[in-house]
Amino acid sequence: MSDYKTPVLFIGHGSPMNIIYKNEYTKSLQKLGMSLQKPDAILVVSAHWLTEGTFVCSADKPEQIYDFYGFPDELYAVKYHPPGARAIAESIAHKLKSDNIQLNAEWGIDHASWAVLAHMYPKADIPVFEMSLDVLKNEEEHYALGKKLSFLRRKNVLIIGSGNIVHNLRQIDFDENAKPFPWAIEFDEYIKDALLRKDRDRLLRYKELSPVSRLAVPTNDHYLPFLYSAALQEDDEQIKFIHESIRNGSMSMRCFMVQ
Ligand code: ZN
Repeated sequence: MSDYKTPVLFIGHGSPMNIIYKNEYTKSLQKLGMSLQKPDAILVVSAHWLTEGTFVCSADKPEQIYDFYGFPDELYAVKYHPPGARAIAESIAHKLKSDNIQLNAEWGIDHASWAVLAHMYPKADIPVFEMSLDVLKNEEEHYALGKKLSFLRRKNVLIIGSGNIVHNLRQIDFDENAKPFPWAIEFDEYIKDALLRKDRDRLLRYKELSPVSRLAVPTNDHYLPFLYSAALQEDDEQIKFIHESIRNGSMSMRCFMVQ
């Protein structure tokens, strides 16, 4: 059992409307939550927590943050109040001292966490804490930091990168079933292929190597959590796709597990 490595997930979280939807995507999250061995804690690398320097949330009772505006009241009525994981947050700050990971007890959990976890673990009985994205780091540096989180997998911590591989809000169509833009399909396939080939270069240098990256990744906040999940893949591990779709025309909902 000591050799057991908790799988790593990347979840495309997409529109906050998924909080209340029941569709193929939310069903795949539900199924995933039921099929995994129960983790002792969940660390979410969040597309919605952008900071200078890297922070981990050390709150004992992380506040649920409703960080979206102008959505139906139903979304704001959803409660998700898991315990925090202060001791594990502290162990990260201690272990990765040279990376200057700082503790933050104020942040809580934004919808990159709870919009996903409300489907996967509706009882909210597993401790949850977030890690922020340091806006001063480049892709290489995020990837390198992601690798260093691997020790958590041997402590039964489920690491989830929560963002979207393709995420263009300017081009968004409010119909979730809108026809995907060709560039959205192209970039999503480019990443899928690079992942399966373990082509790290294509994951990190997408700006130079993919002609559609400017449309697919106009800002990298939703892409970076993906790099943390990809970085955690070890040599003997496979990628298993849990869900693949492009919604709202410009959003890849691709989700995968590393195991
Ligand atoms: Zn988001």
